[in-house]
Amino acid sequence: MENETKNFIEQIIDKDLAEGVYDQVHTRFPPEPNGYLHIGHAKSILLNYGLAQKYNGKFNLRFDDTNPTKEKTEFVDSIKEDVAWLGADWEDRLFFASDYFDIMYQCAVKLIKKGKAFVCDLSAEEIREYRGTLTEPGKDSPYRNRSVEENLELFENMKNGLYKDGEKVLRAKIDMASPNINMRDPVIYRVAHMSHHNTGDAWCIYPMYDFAHPIEDAVEHVTHSICTLEFEDHRPLYDWVVRECEFDHPPRQIEFAKLYLKNVVTGKRYIKKLVEDGIVDGWDDPRLVSISGLRRRGYTPEAIRRFVELAGVSKSNSTCEMPMLEYCIREDLKLKKPRVMAVLHPLKLVIDNYPEDQVEYMEVQNNQENPELGSREVPFCRELYIEQEDFMEVPVKKYFRLFPGNEVRLMNAYFVTCTGVVKDEAGNVTEVHCTYDPETRSGSGFSGRKVKGTIHWVSARHAVRAEARLYENIIDEEKGVYNEDGSLNLNPASLTVLPDCYVEPGLAKAESPESFQFVRNGYFCVDSRDSRPEHLVFNRIVSLKSSFKLPVQ
Ligand code: ATP
Ligand code: MG
Repeated sequence: MENETKNFIEQIIDKDLAEGVYDQVHTRFPPEPNGYLHIGHAKSILLNYGLAQKYNGKFNLRFDDTNPTKEKTEFVDSIKEDVAWLGADWEDRLFFASDYFDIMYQCAVKLIKKGKAFVCDLSAEEIREYRGTLTEPGKDSPYRNRSVEENLELFENMKNGLYKDGEKVLRAKIDMASPNINMRDPVIYRVAHMSHHNTGDAWCIYPMYDFAHPIEDAVEHVTHSICTLEFEDHRPLYDWVVRECEFDHPPRQIEFAKLYLKNVVTGKRYIKKLVEDGIVDGWDDPRLVSISGLRRRGYTPEAIRRFVELAGVSKSNSTCEMPMLEYCIREDLKLKKPRVMAVLHPLKLVIDNYPEDQVEYMEVQNNQENPELGSREVPFCRELYIEQEDFMEVPVKKYFRLFPGNEVRLMNAYFVTCTGVVKDEAGNVTEVHCTYDPETRSGSGFSGRKVKGTIHWVSARHAVRAEARLYENIIDEEKGVYNEDGSLNLNPASLTVLPDCYVEPGLAKAESPESFQFVRNGYFCVDSRDSRPEHLVFNRIVSLKSSFKLPVQ
């Protein structure tokens, strides 16, 4: 009964605990510091951290920094920030794989002494040729039968810098005829004369991922080493390393399916390219699904957590839709955020019969669905801004907003009737004129007549000017993510900047990470990078309407 609600990883853990294979649960998130994290990593982080929490266990953050070529301290810092922001707490367990270089070296020496590893002089090309194919077995390297003594000496020479990059490698001695290509004497150490962001020039040999990773897990007493599906075929090698290095606490590798988002660029490699080509303005561009991009866009950790929960944990690849992520942020913000009036495309509305110097403060509920958020006062006066699209000189069918002769409700204020327009020389409407009915003030209980349209507004005299940025998918969805040559199908209209918006005066001091519902226009957050008190910038997080329906569960 209980198992029905548990995912397959939890079922494995339950079994392990029941059978005494492990007496606790210890997980880790092992990013390579070669880029910023994205929504897919969020899934891995929340899964690993969630399991540790659920089983009263431990969760480590470990940088898998065994490859000196692409790694940078900038990425280490951003990853820490993102993991912490998502709420995954590694407590005092922040580790670097490079801190284990000594242990890894000792493990390699141990393998050599056991006759389970050898130094090989074949070039990378030759190693590939000798490896065989899926249907044909490989061939033994001519260096495979070097003596333990010779291997020990050569490996030490590798470490001491006697060879050039690629001149020699250390390989595990397993089985060149194995049906699993990963087991055909894989390379476990290579020579690379390169500085490392953590160890500097202390090493000129570096361990390969498949050798280093199981050692990292075992050293940290990780019990369940959760990785993505493409490592399934590497599991026999993972187990081999743990076994042959004779660790007391053998970890178990479990693979799950990666999170994919339809028509969205997720791979680190592609995001990096967008950044490097200057197509986006950095790793935290709000159009990206990097965690920092989502954060800057106004996504919350709660929404991302909910999304990951809905996506579920499985062993077969599947694709989620962006609307599901958008649904999660709308649901999260719906009751938490004030609903305020902001005009994105302003048009002046003048109430001719409203006294010129008069200001009324309208009491407005901050969130009609959540009284706990209280209320605020919004100034109302003779000149307002409304949305351009809320006026039509010649109305189309079923248009219930302002047009000459028509009466509408100004949200939280009065009924007004349009009386005419002012135009510039080119014939554009520059002002709409109207009269108001003082009897119809919102909250006064007026019930004389009804109107079909309600529009929002801000007081022209009091409103604060602001910039709004509207986003669309960076990918042209009609064409799909990639062109035939592997390049991205970019949407040229993925960013729209509206420099002349007006927001309620109450927002004058808004600061990141505040966010709001702008009624009728969507959810917006203060931009963390560019917004200043004298120049407010709001990012549209998401529009109000959704095409996503939560599946019945
Ligand atoms: P990318 O595929 O974007 O290049 P990566 O796998 O190279 O990412 P790592 O830093 O090596 O990035 O990954 C850290 C952890 O995050 C790994 O355990 C990896 O399996 C996991 N991970 C990466 N992408 C996803 C994804 N789309 N869904 C779930 N987990 C992921
Ligand atoms: Mg990787």
